[in-house]
Amino acid sequence: MKNIVQRQRQFFKDAKTLKVKFRKAQLRKLKATLNKYEGEIIEALKHDFEKPAFETFSTEIMVLDQEIDHILANINNWSSTQRAKSARINFPSKSYIKPQPYGVTLVIGPWNYPVQLTLNPALGAIAAGNTVIIKPSEIAPHTSALLTKIINSNFNPGFLHVVEGDADTTQALLSQPLDYIFFTGSTHVGKIIMKAAAEQLTPLTLELGGKSPTIVDETADLELAAKRIAWGKFINAGQTCVSPDFVYVQNSLHDKFCNLLKEHIRNFFGDNAAQSDDFARIISDKHFHRLANLIDPSNVFYGGSTNPDTRYIEPTVLTNISWDDPIMQEEIFGPILPILRFNELNHIIETLQSKSHPLALYLFSTNKLNQKKVMHRLRFGGGCINDTVAHLGNPKLPFGGMGNSGFGSYHGKASFDTFSHPKSIMKKSNWLDIPLRYPPYEGKLNWLKKLKKFL
Ligand code: NAD
Repeated sequence: MKNIVQRQRQFFKDAKTLKVKFRKAQLRKLKATLNKYEGEIIEALKHDFEKPAFETFSTEIMVLDQEIDHILANINNWSSTQRAKSARINFPSKSYIKPQPYGVTLVIGPWNYPVQLTLNPALGAIAAGNTVIIKPSEIAPHTSALLTKIINSNFNPGFLHVVEGDADTTQALLSQPLDYIFFTGSTHVGKIIMKAAAEQLTPLTLELGGKSPTIVDETADLELAAKRIAWGKFINAGQTCVSPDFVYVQNSLHDKFCNLLKEHIRNFFGDNAAQSDDFARIISDKHFHRLANLIDPSNVFYGGSTNPDTRYIEPTVLTNISWDDPIMQEEIFGPILPILRFNELNHIIETLQSKSHPLALYLFSTNKLNQKKVMHRLRFGGGCINDTVAHLGNPKLPFGGMGNSGFGSYHGKASFDTFSHPKSIMKKSNWLDIPLRYPPYEGKLNWLKKLKKFL
């Protein structure tokens, strides 16, 4: 680990990454590399958890491809020195802000979108002029091995390098002097990473998870709501950090909504989702058993069947759920959707205000007042009105959580800013040197008070 970090530190000192031309060339090379290995990436994710090819292409490869294009179109502007108005107190002078890369960065990734969530932050780090060490998740071993092959055989390790391994490997990397850490994963491990970063005062971003609520009020387009919620929940078999964790539906619509959900799940995956090519499996035995234990048969409205041999959990809808049920205690992170009822929007706003801030929140409503109330009064990372998950598709929207769902953000310019320090410079002229600020101060205080309003 020491050698890997030292090699990157030397590469950074050599100042190659300070040239925008170099960064652009590396991003283009990464884009070409991803295209070249598209088939192998799809295969690796199939091996790891039967991720459908369409989902791998749309949520991993295409997202990265578009992000690279967006960066290439804007990098000259983002990386340029910005003039700032000078303060009169510094007259005569000029001021400017220069985005400064941190240096050697570490990106620690999760298993659930194992390509996108490790490479997407790395794109921001590269665009901003850093070197990058990537630690993918060992829980998706085929993808981790492929990422190592793709990156380590195509890029200078002093600039971009993948280190495979588990928690111990990550700890060993964290014990090295790093200049920025970008972590995506669970809140529990996020705390461990932040403690390690604190030891060396290394700045960091934490992209964590949580229970993301979805609210469906009586003015919602119910048909569309059910379809878009079923899509956002069951894509990647519910193993998505921003997937709707649970639904709060207004009482009067409850039965109709649940029936529509059932209809859409059948439309998506047929009567037996186990035979559908479009539905992923659970990543590991540990997660399979955790999820299977959350299905109380007395609450099953739809689905509920499981198969430990294939780590299959049927798309499942649970009804008659309250906050006391085990499924409401932690982030679900699987294809199980609990439905809660409500009468008064104000009541659930109060309930949700008392919980941890989630990474996402979705509201299905055509009532402008309700839209305003929910968006204004509840604190969460980001979200949608009348859709789920899709806000991530806009690189102009910074993506990140708050509180227990993390801090900091990325995507598009937010990625560039996250991996840059805004270095502020004032350049003073020598032709005038106003004596007021220098000691001795005798007789100067009254002058300062008189001049204060002009400064
Ligand atoms: P995880 O926290 O278990 O693991 C993430 C990474 O941390 C892995 O690379 C792992 O090797 C490493 N790690 C694990 N234990 C460690 C330790 N003790 N010390 C150092 N490193 C350690 O998370 P996961 O299971 O891979 O991902 C699921 C979680 O991630 C969910 O909570 C989900 O909501 C969250 N998530 C968040 C986002 C987001 O963008 N905010 C995206 C995807 C997933």
